[in-house]
Amino acid sequence: MDEKLAALTQIYRVLENTLDGHLLACHRGCAACCTLNVTMTTLEAYQIINYLNQTEGMDLLERLSSSSDKSRFIPELTINALARRCAGSDEISEEEHTLGRGVCPLLIDDACAVYTARPLACRTMVSSRDCRMTGYATMDPFILSVNNVLMQFVEHVDQGGLTGNLTDVLLYLSEKENRHAYETGAVIPGANGLLANHALTVLMVPPEHRQPMAPVLKSLNPAMAEIT
Ligand code: SF4
Repeated sequence: MDEKLAALTQIYRVLENTLDGHLLACHRGCAACCTLNVTMTTLEAYQIINYLNQTEGMDLLERLSSSSDKSRFIPELTINALARRCAGSDEISEEEHTLGRGVCPLLIDDACAVYTARPLACRTMVSSRDCRMTGYATMDPFILSVNNVLMQFVEHVDQGGLTGNLTDVLLYLSEKENRHAYETGAVIPGANGLLANHALTVLMVPPEHRQPMAPVLKSLNPAMAEIT
C-alpha cells in the first residue's frame, strides 16, 4: 500500500506542476464543482480514510450514509476500460448519465473537509473562468488530456482495486473488513456497484498533444512511460 500511496502522491505532484503558471478562477469558498457525482478509485478513498483517521474525522463518514439514497452518477466503465474500447473496434454506446443534484457529502460550509487528501477528480476540475458565471468549466484542451492520462495512471496503479462514485467507494472502504480485503488484494468487483480497475494499455492522448505530453509521462515514472 505504501508504494501505491507514494505513486498517488507523485501523480498529484505532476498535476500541480502542470497547472503551475496557469491562471485559474478556482479559489477557497467556490464549490460549484463539489457535487454528488465525483468518482474515484479505492486507492484515493483509502488515502481519504487514512486522513480522516489521523484527524479524528471518521464521524464524517456518517454523512455519506445519510446521502447514500440520493441519485448520483454511477460509472459503467472505468477510464482504462473506456480507452481500451475506444482503441479497439468495439462500439461505444453513450453512457447514460444519471446525475445527482446535491452537493458532495464531504463539503462543509463551502469547504472540502478532506482538502489535502481530496481525490484526483477534484484536483483536475479546474477552470480559467468562474464556472458559476458560465455554468461549465473552461479548460485548456491540453490540461484536459493531462487529466485523462493521470486518471488512467491512478487506475493502473490501483489494479486489483475498484472504481465508482465517491460515496460508494468511501462507504465500501469505511468497513474494516473491506479495508482489510483491499489491503490484501481480495476486493470483490460488484460490491456497492463498484467496477474492477484495469491496467493501462493505451493512453487517451490526441495526436496534437503527444509531443507536449512526453515530459509529463517522463515525470510520472520512466518505467510507466514505457507503456506508451
Ligand atoms: S471531496 Fe472535497 S473537493 Fe472533492 S467534491 Fe467533495 S468537497 Fe469537493
